[in-house]
Amino acid sequence: MSIPIASRIRRIKPSPSTAAADRANELRRQGKSIVNLVVGEPDFDTPVHIRQAAAAAMDAGATRYTPMAGTLELRKAIIAKLARENGLNYAPNEIIATNGAKSAIFTALSATLDPGDEVIVPAPYWVSYPDMVLANEGTPVVVAGDEEQGFRLSPAQLEAAITPRTRWVLLNAPANPSGASYAADAYRGLAAVLAAHPQVLVMTDDIYEHIRFDGGDAPHLLAAAPELRHRTLAINGVSKTYAMTGWRIGWAAGPAELIKAMETLLSQSAGNCCSISQAAAVAALNGEQSFVGESVAIYRERRDRTAAALGAIPGLTCRLPEGAFYLYVNCQGLLGKTTPDGQRLTSDGDVVMYLLDHAGVATVAGAAYGLSPYFRLSIATGMDILMEGAKRIGAAVGELV
Ligand code: PLP
Repeated sequence: MSIPIASRIRRIKPSPSTAAADRANELRRQGKSIVNLVVGEPDFDTPVHIRQAAAAAMDAGATRYTPMAGTLELRKAIIAKLARENGLNYAPNEIIATNGAKSAIFTALSATLDPGDEVIVPAPYWVSYPDMVLANEGTPVVVAGDEEQGFRLSPAQLEAAITPRTRWVLLNAPANPSGASYAADAYRGLAAVLAAHPQVLVMTDDIYEHIRFDGGDAPHLLAAAPELRHRTLAINGVSKTYAMTGWRIGWAAGPAELIKAMETLLSQSAGNCCSISQAAAVAALNGEQSFVGESVAIYRERRDRTAAALGAIPGLTCRLPEGAFYLYVNCQGLLGKTTPDGQRLTSDGDVVMYLLDHAGVATVAGAAYGLSPYFRLSIATGMDILMEGAKRIGAAVGELV
């Protein structure tokens, strides 16, 4: 008997980066030497003081259900962080802790989308956004970014994408995969458009906010346009900043009514997030922050050297991202070329397959992020691996005719 899977689930697919990582691991199991540049998580260990706080919490009995929205201690730590780092003020009933930022985004969409409601998703986008919208019976409205424009959504593009059905616009800065980020003026331009469309909610995915390389003007949207506060949901978490992807703590900060709806939905689905991880996240947010600056300095060096190595390969260009830990490499110059096996490269998917099969380098095709022809590679891996990857890519590209 075949299991009747719901149509909203049949509309979505597993994450392409997970699929690419699985393929790389399979080739590795077959004995091939693979340089895996797919994975989007810090290669560092969670700092020791955070791990110790988790152990202490366990010993102190923090092993039970917590309030649905998270412990008051965690919500206060999040509130303090938003005030200290972003200049934003929230009350405990405007905050909910979730199983990672991913769950915060999904739950917010679930709590607000009726069938056919539209969500504006600037491309290149994090692979999960369109599928999360589809899983909640909404319609993703993808707006293609322009490399010349730093992949930022422009006010004119936003205006053109808004319809009476628009429920959300999703902003992610620095962005996965492009690193794109917005200065205060750029945010104010978007806010000016939104002023005429009061029905549109704004979701900011701030998960990479600390992984920034330009040091310039990059405020939170709400610091630049505080008038949007009553219709903005700010998403964040500890995964990327503190190398805590496995602990699964994220959060949403926004209007109390929306937070309440998310709380109700989660109380009937996932339940509260892990009590021990919540204690660890308190230590991460309230504790000393040297890990953040140290890890960002390492990412920066990797970004600079890897982008330089790839940019020197004829046919590839690599824009320096302002943040996050990915390079989004333009491979337009390889399209139309032929591999040693006689195959013509016609898409970024072909380029990625060629690099995997011929050079043993695993990356993800730009098509997965809604903007071609590019491929994404993660710099959240050691410099020696990155340099080996760039060397192999250079050699494989050199064999194309
Ligand atoms: N948002 C973006 C843009 C991401 O790239 C990721 C992880 O890759 C997440 C959210 C998920 O973060 P979390 O681990 O907190 O669920």
